[in-house]
Amino acid sequence: MKSMGVRGCTKSRSARPDAPDVPWPTSAEVHQLRPDARPATFAAVSPSRSAVPHRYPESPVFYRSLTREYPMAVRGEGCWLEDATGKRYLDAVGGAYVASIGHGVREIGDAMAAQAGRLAYVNGTAFTNEAVEGLAERLVARSPALGKAYILGSGSEAVEAALKLARQYWIERGEAGRNRIIALSPGYHGNTLLALSASARAHYRAYWGDWLVDVQRIPAPSAYRCSCDGDVACPACSGTALEEAIVAAGPGRVAAFILEPVGGSSTGGNVPRDGYLRTVREICTRHDVLLIADEILCGAGRTGTWTAIEHWGVVPDILTLGKGIGGGYAPVSAVLVRDDIVDVIARGSGALMHAQTFSHHAVTCAAAVATLDYMAAHDLVGRCARMAPVFHGKLDALRALPGVGDVRGRGLLAGVEFVADVRTRAPFAREARVAERFTRVAQDAGLIVWPNVGHVDGGLGDLVMLAPPYIITEGEIDEIVARFALACHTLFD
Ligand code: PLP
Repeated sequence: MKSMGVRGCTKSRSARPDAPDVPWPTSAEVHQLRPDARPATFAAVSPSRSAVPHRYPESPVFYRSLTREYPMAVRGEGCWLEDATGKRYLDAVGGAYVASIGHGVREIGDAMAAQAGRLAYVNGTAFTNEAVEGLAERLVARSPALGKAYILGSGSEAVEAALKLARQYWIERGEAGRNRIIALSPGYHGNTLLALSASARAHYRAYWGDWLVDVQRIPAPSAYRCSCDGDVACPACSGTALEEAIVAAGPGRVAAFILEPVGGSSTGGNVPRDGYLRTVREICTRHDVLLIADEILCGAGRTGTWTAIEHWGVVPDILTLGKGIGGGYAPVSAVLVRDDIVDVIARGSGALMHAQTFSHHAVTCAAAVATLDYMAAHDLVGRCARMAPVFHGKLDALRALPGVGDVRGRGLLAGVEFVADVRTRAPFAREARVAERFTRVAQDAGLIVWPNVGHVDGGLGDLVMLAPPYIITEGEIDEIVARFALACHTLFD
């Protein structure tokens, strides 16, 4: 058979067609061609651009907000960030519940560089790689009932894949009629269209409503907002609302129920009653509905155990993890699933119908492996559990501040709800933009928090979230409280 003569890879080096006497350089030679072209240090912004304001329209960046100017973050260490002017910020929310092990941990960057230097990318259709095998091994060891892990990049991708997996499972089990999803309201599961369909986000629906799929909603439990006043029979707070919804959908119609076991931004750190998760687990089992625990935000140790749902001894059928598993060093998420669910697909079509170029990525997986090993070596999940009472004990002081209606959460996750009237719990008018303004005032005071609006009725409701790195110290928690108080007095006095 005639040799294919692959360029640069043949033993006898072939000649370049444009210059027949000149052989193709080997890849090692290519890397040596212009050593002077390699910068000694990483400098992303050219000197001519460094003075341009970081705002629309001057900068070429399409920013998250087009109505503000951004400080340039240049460094992070532990719980602290520094901008280009030297101003320091206490990162009380890990960016967005992401910086679990703290900023500036060199081991993680070293592990990523080592992986990238050895092998940066292969596609999951042709190869596996050591990093993805290592990450899956670590994840399933932490959730032994869920024997397979599918690795992706963002939380939205993981939720998207989890919901599709549920649907595909039922089709391949011969129950194609199970095409309905049930989700909580309020709730948030991501921004791609299926994940957004499962999210109760009225302000996004105003734009994308026409493109979203129909998801059945039941009220989320809420100790602070539900009118039941602690009534044990309350369908929303006890979980029995799920059974009513499944029955209303009709037999054999519901594929999955998705929930955040401990609420994130959309509810302000809602913790359900003790019996809630067990009740919804029993209902799902009774009606053959898959229980998807979306722990993109509350998982990875944030609430003091590896997953939030294990506080109640409950095992989901599918679990999503993201944010904290990569510590912010790389975008990485995971869908963990029971073996027998994967077995059905293996015996059927043979593959999950959710393909992405960057799934199972070697470098992002290496970042997550290093992050999980760092957490284990320093017992950071245990530390999270030990710091939780200190954190919530000190946050109690926030209740006395002007504008604060409730402080809630679990582990190193807390939501602070602002209200116009503490006695009636009446929310502020939306035009007051309290959550957004508080966040800006707090950033000016060197405190990073995460705002959210709309949890009361889709439009009204202002809260901010706190989720510091698991390494936070008692002194730094005091600093959060002091800066939070300063921001409250600035805004409300
Ligand atoms: N699920 C939950 C519970 C989340 O809180 C989020 C993001 O905040 C997502 C999914 C989506 O994650 P991402 O923003 O990484 O796509």
